[in-house]
Amino acid sequence: MPQATTCPECKQGDVISISMNVSGRDLAFSTCHACEAKWWHRDGEQIVLSDVIETVVRT
Ligand SMILES: [Zn+2]
Repeated sequence: MPQATTCPECKQGDVISISMNVSGRDLAFSTCHACEAKWWHRDGEQIVLSDVIETVVRT
């Protein structure tokens, strides 16, 4: 799956993505250098922070 390199918030596109594996789930954290927007993906779907916590807590 291609990584998004353009920030959906400011469209400036200085995005850093970190992928990790949590209990078999593919979690990816992305943050924008320009506007500090942060977002998460799990198994390729965008999720909110509470979903991330739920995934980690279920471990
Ligand atoms: Zn941004």
